[in-house]
Amino acid sequence: MTHGFDLDGRLDQREERGLRRHLDVAESVAARTRFADDPKGDPADFGEEAVVFASNNYLGLADDGRVQQVSELAARTVGTGAGASRLVTGDTHVHRALERDLADCKGAERALAFSSGYAANVGTIDALAPDVVFSDELNHASIIDGCRVGAAETVVYDHCDADDLRAEMRARADGGTDEGDGERWLVVTDSVFSMDGDVAPLSAVCDAADEFGAWVMVDEAHATGLFGDDGGGVVQREGLSDRVDVQLGTLSKALASQGGYVAGDEALVEYLLNAARSFVFSTGLSPPNAAAASEALRIARETDRADDLWDTVATLRDGLEGMGYEVLGETHILPVLVGDRGDAVELADRLEARGVVAPAIRPPTVPEGTSRIRVAPMATHTADDVARCLDAFREAGEEVGAL
Ligand code: PMP
Repeated sequence: MTHGFDLDGRLDQREERGLRRHLDVAESVAARTRFADDPKGDPADFGEEAVVFASNNYLGLADDGRVQQVSELAARTVGTGAGASRLVTGDTHVHRALERDLADCKGAERALAFSSGYAANVGTIDALAPDVVFSDELNHASIIDGCRVGAAETVVYDHCDADDLRAEMRARADGGTDEGDGERWLVVTDSVFSMDGDVAPLSAVCDAADEFGAWVMVDEAHATGLFGDDGGGVVQREGLSDRVDVQLGTLSKALASQGGYVAGDEALVEYLLNAARSFVFSTGLSPPNAAAASEALRIARETDRADDLWDTVATLRDGLEGMGYEVLGETHILPVLVGDRGDAVELADRLEARGVVAPAIRPPTVPEGTSRIRVAPMATHTADDVARCLDAFREAGEEVGAL
């Protein structure tokens, strides 16, 4: 008799389906980095230098001296770890400062920092306890998991399609009972989608939600620090701060740190800090991470650093399209369409052989026939880095027959 778990067998199955993943160790998170073949990451074994176009450190602030200094100071004066849940003894002035900055930047009354964007999504959806969640079909896994944790019914609407959202809400309202009238409905969408690089039609989503009195929650993980005059995200850019009930995101991308946040009105934050289990029962964000995010947010708001990123994005998009590639989306995330999954993997391998790291994104992450290379530039990429990327795409694309 056996009641064990055949993990080797499960890994083998993943291998057969092309879904087995491996860790790649890097020397640093800077634009230029080295990858080792040795999973133990012995620095002696670091391989050729490569330029990474695969990081969400979009503003290149994760190794910025100013951010490092503020983070170091917080480690020395406040502590390296919060030591307890914020509700116990883990709440510090560094957390409060970060939350004030985030609320200010988002045009919200108040913000709350979580230990990750994942925890923010799962904890918030679960705590709100909606009866029905209307969710864009390409929403991030942490939103999907938030829906799974609670008892909500999840209705998936077509990607970026506010008409389909409205139709789903209408169908539900027409088929509903009088008791259903009091149901709590939550519409949730990413603002910028990480695999397609496109932007949700937030104004139309808010219009549809308003018709049915539903709440709107927007995940700005890929937009905070980059969009809007004040880096407040797409919600801010579109002037929707008053219409979006829950603004949420991560500190781990443009804000160069680790952690997540929710911003909204006083009642929302006061409720979540009491009821979101991933906040209540998890150690507070570490002070160095909170301080790093504050400083990165200050730089994002007060300097024109994002302009460097947008210049690089324009050069790459023009260059890739000029060669004949189809580049999806309309943001700083550049998904280069390849189609066949084998071709995409081959192209990514050949790019890497030329010192350019950009991952192949394949099914099941994206639909069959739409495999792509996800190119994610950073504000710190130099003109040489960009030229190297474009050269690699030209040469590798010709070899693979993608051009
Ligand atoms: N939401 C979106 C849209 C994301 O892309 C991510 C991270 N990939 C998360 C949430 C989770 O954020 P974190 O990495 O801070 O857990």
